[in-house]
Amino acid sequence: MAIKITSECINCGACEPECPNTAIYEGGAKWSLGGSEYSGNDASPSGEKGFFSNEIFYIVPDKCTECVGFHEKPQCAEVCPVDCCVRDEDREEDKETLLKKKEYLDGLGR
Ligand code: SF4
Ligand code: SF4
Repeated sequence: MAIKITSECINCGACEPECPNTAIYEGGAKWSLGGSEYSGNDASPSGEKGFFSNEIFYIVPDKCTECVGFHEKPQCAEVCPVDCCVRDEDREEDKETLLKKKEYLDGLGR
């Protein structure tokens, strides 16, 4: 499943450079996927909405593979000083699905 950032985030920015999928963005920042730029509550290509935040760092679910294909553990959760990168129970995905997502992102260039 994708990882999400909770309201406990203190905006330290430690997680963003650790993400191998560039899935993490600063609050209010536009996000991109496959060369297309999106903003605010634009739906993702797979139809995901509601992950954007103006106040805290946020994760684009279409781009989060839970670090599958790169690392043993979610890197954002590893570095977060307040443990606010948590599993998103509303976005359950098995390992095979996450690997397919990684391949999809590989093809798009992220
Ligand atoms: S779990 Fe990995 S892929 Fe997902 S947002 Fe965190 S660092 Fe990025
Ligand atoms: S590492 Fe944690 S506290 Fe820092 S910006 Fe990322 S989610 Fe927020």
